[in-house]
Amino acid sequence: MAATALGDLHRRASRETIPGWRIATFHAIDTTVDGDINGIYNMRIATFAAQVAAIARLSLAHSNLNVVPLRLNRGSGVTITFDDGYATTLTLAAPRLLQHGLPFHVYVSPALVESGDSRYLTRSQLLELSRIPGVTIGAHGYRHVPLSTIPESSRVQELTDARKWLEDTIQLPISTMSYPFGDTPVGIDRALEAAGYSSGACSIWGFNSEATNPLMLQRIDLWEGDSARTAGTKLLGHWNWIWSRSLT
Ligand SMILES: [Zn+2]
Repeated sequence: MAATALGDLHRRASRETIPGWRIATFHAIDTTVDGDINGIYNMRIATFAAQVAAIARLSLAHSNLNVVPLRLNRGSGVTITFDDGYATTLTLAAPRLLQHGLPFHVYVSPALVESGDSRYLTRSQLLELSRIPGVTIGAHGYRHVPLSTIPESSRVQELTDARKWLEDTIQLPISTMSYPFGDTPVGIDRALEAAGYSSGACSIWGFNSEATNPLMLQRIDLWEGDSARTAGTKLLGHWNWIWSRSLT
């Protein structure tokens, strides 16, 4: 190994950060989000582009903050995810991420695709998105309703329907899901497993380790109001203690 490469390796390794696998959550880009009373889930493209650039810089600067695909179960790295399946995930977000060579994962609710609402991906857009190298697709419930509002006896069916619809549509296996509205009634991880999934993401703030239940992965929410610097500090872990204190 050349001396410069060794020096670079040393610099990267010496910049210690809080350990853990970060899963960043985005929602919509330049699209109205139902129920978004604080305006945090509809991100302007300029905000998104700045946050993506910050994530790319972190990925280069810290060896344990490399942007990585969603796979079971990581102890480090940053994974970029989107909830819901907005059309602009394909038209606006994908080009920015691909420009930086960053992989990402999109959790899609079939009912939103079938709704005909132009805010969401169409079937053909979903197929196009799923064929982009570095892009992977997961489910987000079938109907995009809080799972606690579905009778317990019907939850496995709801989750199975979502998986099968997506598999039929994109002709690829689906094994991941994020819980709509972060609603995780007791026993939902077992229902998810029974419906054929091996990975579930909730909306609880935090990083994951190899010991985290893969059906209850924690995430880091990124918002319209976050500057590039704030997005970076969230992923570095500087917000984790604030969040854990606010919950106590
Ligand atoms: Zn959602």
